[in-house]
Amino acid sequence: MSTLNDPANQPLDVAPALAKKLDKLGLRRRFDLVLHLPLRYEDETHLFPIADAPYGQPVLVEGAVSTHEVQFRPRRQLVVRIEDSAGASLVLRFIHFYPSHLKQFAEGNRIRALGEIRRGFLGDEMVHPKIRQVDDGAPLADSLTPVYPTVNGVTQPMLRKLIRSELSRQRMEETLPAGMADSLRLMPFAEAVRLLHNPPPDYSAIQLSDPMLPAWQRLKFDELLAQQLSMRLAYRARRQGKAARLQGDGSLSRRLLESLPFALTGAQRKVLDEIVSDLRQAHPMHRLLQGDVGSGKTIVAALAALHAMEAGFQVALMAPTEILAEQHYRKLAGWLAPLGIRVSWLTGSLRKKQKQAALEEIANGEARLAVGTHALFQDDVAFQRLGLAIVDEQHRFGVGQRLALKDKGVEPHQLMMSATPIPRTLAMSFYADLDVSVIDELPPGRTPITTKLINNARRTEVVAYVDKTCAEGNQAYWVCPLIEESETLQLQTAVDTHLQLAEALPHRQVGLVHGRMKPDEKAAVMAAFAAGELQVLVATTVIEVGVDVPNASLMVIEHAERMGLAQLHQLRGRVGRGSARSVCMLLYENPLSDLAKARLKVIYENVDGFEIARQDLQIRGPGEFLGARQSGVPMLRFADLEADVSLLEQARELAPLMLQRHPEAVEAHLDRWLSGREQFLSA
Ligand code: ADP
Ligand code: MG
Repeated sequence: MSTLNDPANQPLDVAPALAKKLDKLGLRRRFDLVLHLPLRYEDETHLFPIADAPYGQPVLVEGAVSTHEVQFRPRRQLVVRIEDSAGASLVLRFIHFYPSHLKQFAEGNRIRALGEIRRGFLGDEMVHPKIRQVDDGAPLADSLTPVYPTVNGVTQPMLRKLIRSELSRQRMEETLPAGMADSLRLMPFAEAVRLLHNPPPDYSAIQLSDPMLPAWQRLKFDELLAQQLSMRLAYRARRQGKAARLQGDGSLSRRLLESLPFALTGAQRKVLDEIVSDLRQAHPMHRLLQGDVGSGKTIVAALAALHAMEAGFQVALMAPTEILAEQHYRKLAGWLAPLGIRVSWLTGSLRKKQKQAALEEIANGEARLAVGTHALFQDDVAFQRLGLAIVDEQHRFGVGQRLALKDKGVEPHQLMMSATPIPRTLAMSFYADLDVSVIDELPPGRTPITTKLINNARRTEVVAYVDKTCAEGNQAYWVCPLIEESETLQLQTAVDTHLQLAEALPHRQVGLVHGRMKPDEKAAVMAAFAAGELQVLVATTVIEVGVDVPNASLMVIEHAERMGLAQLHQLRGRVGRGSARSVCMLLYENPLSDLAKARLKVIYENVDGFEIARQDLQIRGPGEFLGARQSGVPMLRFADLEADVSLLEQARELAPLMLQRHPEAVEAHLDRWLSGREQFLSA
């Protein structure tokens, strides 16, 4: 048990104003200081003669001030010239300075300056070096100086002093079970921490920044292990939670299957089995259903829902946008109404009376299935007997919303669906508390999509191709560019594009849908497109997720270079759903940034969502992927999932063993790494 008497857990012994600043750095308990590790190191062990100092790396030089002046052109700045004992001189330039700084630059004062020398207008110079006034012959540092992450108002010397004193006070016991560090060839914890805070004299800055340094490896391992333990505990806690066993008898789902024009794929049957066997358990399911765009998740959701209804429970299905929710509503009502099942519809945009009616149906149990947006999460929604909550495009919702749902009375089973595949390393770490089912096969009869990269200069040819597609009886999407700086501008572009296309294609029906339209207007346009009354649909990225119109076979995406890979993949997946040969045209504008080039290459060369996600993770790191997971999941400060995958694997192997055989070690380890930070996804 972590106790307040434990010196590691005692709050920092500093003035309240400083405590507040340190809090921003995540420094609350005394032990947090021990784990506050340097970002990099500065070398103040060696003094360079000014004339011999290399360019392009930080160097320490020393000299006497020969002149100093405040200049006003091109802007206000302080220019100090120092001269070393060999007679070589160097300019120190400061843009930000206070009058009080001037004192130390009195003529003749000895100054030590640490910085990079570059060639300037007045000869060699350092801009904003780190400076110190010294006496002649002042000793040099005997080892490298750590530089810590910090915030305004907390200086490096303050941090160094706090950390140093804590290092001497803390016991820094080993949290791994006896012999474990050895057998994993890991450096002892205390040794690793001491080395990183106080590097021995013979270590260079390059050695110390090497992620393979045994000391760093040890800390990364400990961090990854804490994450694994915490995720496993969250998983366990959930398995101990109570949920209703849903014992469906298959009567409804059989009827739906019989009415479908297609048979389930093997992959759909497999994931459905996994879901249904979870629903029969007495603890809540938290299962993530992954399947590439178009893999047929909706019918799986419908069949899972029927299983819950057969058992006498209600089901909620949530989607992140009105368009998508509306489409699910139509589709599900179309499938379920013939079975005599009442489906109700709830979004924020309903008029008060309609909303009241929906709430009533949901509360008295008349509605067996409620489909809607975020509105379904709201407090005024009370189900009579909710057994299963399904969340589509899970990655677009925040974790908080997931939790709010769990608070309502009985804990429902949860099925989360996502077309954004989670790369393996993320699945092993940040998503380790969920069970995952994967639909790894597309329904038969799909035609592969041809992807073309086209310079925007060839727009007229693209418009001609749209016309040809329509002439063949198919339909086209035209997606307008994302303009992050201004929603108004984005809207304007969509309106303009719509006008241009309508003008260029006078014999075609061209529709427009964008985020600012009222929900019923949007729904009307989407319905007209689905019915084939519109042949071309100009859209902002509102159609990104889930829209399903099999007859659409052409997707044009303008300024594709501005979009992320997941988004491009989602958009492209709107076509290739019917039997017609489908094409996705990615229009781009030069010049392309390296990042844009890399992305376009990936989307051009790959159709497999998993491969795209993997490369995406490589290009941009896990941050954005984790958007929806961030709160409640222990984040990583030191480890890097791609680079440290073998440490991650080791931690993953050790975690269950430790939980089983060394519960006290688990407690000590989690206390060290996560105490004071959010540690569990509340189960
Ligand atoms: P997503 O996984 O992207 O949500 P959908 O559930 O929207 O995919 O399914 C895409 C399309 O494939 C829909 O038109 C759906 O009716 C159809 N579909 C689903 N399963 C099958 C199947 N087994 N055989 C043929 N078509 C299917
Ligand atoms: Mg879908």
